[in-house]
Amino acid sequence: MKVRMPHFTPAVRIALGLISLIVTLLLLIDIALNLVPDQTDMQRKIRESTSERLAVQVTSLIQAQEWDALKLTISEALSRDKEILSLAVRQEDGKIVVKAGDHHRHWVSPAEGKSTLTHVRVPVYARNAHWGDVEISYVPVTPQTLREWLQTPLVALGLVIVPAGFLAFYLYMRRTLQYLDPTSAIPDRVRVAFDALTEGVTVIDRSGRIMLHNKAFRQLHPYATDDMMGKNLSQLPWLVGSGEAPEVPWEYAMKSQTNTSGHLFTITQPDQGVIKVIVNAAPIEDARGRLRGCMVTFYDVTQLHRANEKMRSALVALEASREQVEKQNEELMRLATRDSLTGCLNRRAFFSAAEPLLDKLQQEARNMCCIMADIDSFKLVNDTHGHQVGDQVIVAVARALTLHMRGGDLLCRYGGEEFCMVLPGASEEVAMEIAERLRNEIEAHVGTSIRTIEGLRITSSFGVASLKSGADNLSELIELADFALYTSKRGGRNRSTLWSEKLGQETATNETSGAVAGNRT
Ligand code: GH3
Ligand code: MG
Ligand code: MG
Repeated sequence: MKVRMPHFTPAVRIALGLISLIVTLLLLIDIALNLVPDQTDMQRKIRESTSERLAVQVTSLIQAQEWDALKLTISEALSRDKEILSLAVRQEDGKIVVKAGDHHRHWVSPAEGKSTLTHVRVPVYARNAHWGDVEISYVPVTPQTLREWLQTPLVALGLVIVPAGFLAFYLYMRRTLQYLDPTSAIPDRVRVAFDALTEGVTVIDRSGRIMLHNKAFRQLHPYATDDMMGKNLSQLPWLVGSGEAPEVPWEYAMKSQTNTSGHLFTITQPDQGVIKVIVNAAPIEDARGRLRGCMVTFYDVTQLHRANEKMRSALVALEASREQVEKQNEELMRLATRDSLTGCLNRRAFFSAAEPLLDKLQQEARNMCCIMADIDSFKLVNDTHGHQVGDQVIVAVARALTLHMRGGDLLCRYGGEEFCMVLPGASEEVAMEIAERLRNEIEAHVGTSIRTIEGLRITSSFGVASLKSGADNLSELIELADFALYTSKRGGRNRSTLWSEKLGQETATNETSGAVAGNRT
């Protein structure tokens, strides 16, 4: 827990510091040089000489046997000296000859017969023999009451020096600090006005020392307290290193004497909370354009930042879901337009793409060719090797058919093992050439690509027709190509046939005469 110092003005604090320094110095000098006399020592000397004097008097009176005078002397000694509590003259056998004061109460026989500061025993000799003792009880030397203690030299000295010194220092410092203490230079109403701002504000001098800070600035961190005054802004531990750039903006602003703004600072709180602030710095110049300091503002954007972060992550999530939707749409599109086994266009998609293409080419008076392809004796493949192998063959043929496709060409799985292809802009010769190339490709590679069946031979038949052959629309074009394919089948399979007027007429004649037996199902 942080202990908060009571709020003292700098003048009070400095005066307190100075007076503590003076008192410490005095004590040290006293220890070293023994300036203040030791009271106990002084008392001991006084008491020793008093006792000796008294003993001499007593001895002579005893020797003269003047008992009345002895009694008088003892009583006078008691009444004269306030330090003496009681006195007595005791014979060697212990009998008290004379006494003054309440000797029974005050007298305590010193241990081993040695006198103490409060109980003094002086031997009395008569005719060279120990006759007895003079016993004197003194008041205690150490202060017994508060009043006595206050009267001891050191305490009395302290009591005078401390308040008087403090007062003198305080008055002097207050006068001096009027020129140095920014808190006294800035009127209270200015400070109150600054405190009303929601932005944190500090004003620093040329060397970066804080001259003013407002409430919002102090709220940036628990360690941002009043005692920041006069400290270097760049050295506040909670602010050091929280900026993005190595150079802090106020130093840059003062160096370049230009305003600088928009510097993001991330201030970490002791409870690990984080505050994001935007720092702006504006140099302060005097009338002659000389730099006097800098005003630095701190704008708390933590909430804004959090909202931004949320928005950003929402956007990322949105983007991800948009991509997912796009992918799903693509997949749906693929499912709706493609054949699932071969990936070729299905009939519907093929027609909706090829028909407008054909219209366009017709308008541009350009040609379009159609190639129909059918796997030869495919039923036999299925029957001999099973449907699964049949499927693999269909896939391999479809792949082979894509080999010579160009940009605008369209390929469709027209029926079970039947494919239809349109080649926009291609001449009949080019289309026939492509058909032959595809046929050779299938014959050469499809059978061998089915690794599970040794020596499988797959061939296919092709029929080619072009718009120039007289077809008006896509269906008619396909029909003519299919007709040519039928001719290839009839002619022995594994071949390509181009539809021509003549071919159509021949077929028609043969069919009426019953020469062609339709073996196509
Ligand atoms: P041709 O040379 O006269 O074309 O003889 P073909 O046996 O290929 O002709 P046909 O039309 O008599 O037989 C086609 C066979 O293709 C009939 C059908 O069972 C098979 N078929 C159609 N679709 C598929 C398919 O998706 N997979 C498999 N494995 N077979 C199919
Ligand atoms: Mg077939
Ligand atoms: Mg067929």
